[in-house]
Amino acid sequence: MPSNAELIARISRFQNIGHFHPLTCQKESSHEQLRGEEREGQVVLVCPTCGHVQDQVPAFMKVDEFEEVLKDAEDVQSQMAKVASQLGGMTNES
Ligand SMILES: [Zn+2]
Repeated sequence: MPSNAELIARISRFQNIGHFHPLTCQKESSHEQLRGEEREGQVVLVCPTCGHVQDQVPAFMKVDEFEEVLKDAEDVQSQMAKVASQLGGMTNES
């Protein structure tokens, strides 16, 4: 089990990768992406837009293997960014 700080860090990495469908507000999915916060010793998901608190962090985020999933996704993401910037560089030449 990750510590609360680790879990919060995982949540923010997951939300930033863009590879996954981000966790969004249960009240209104167009609100800003949820953030992990510690409340009374427990990690909860908070909507920055309306303040709605979702007290269940998805179980898959708590397993050790999720760390590997995040790393792989971040690798893919940075490779994609590299390719995109190379392509952008080529197409911008006139
Ligand atoms: Zn909301």
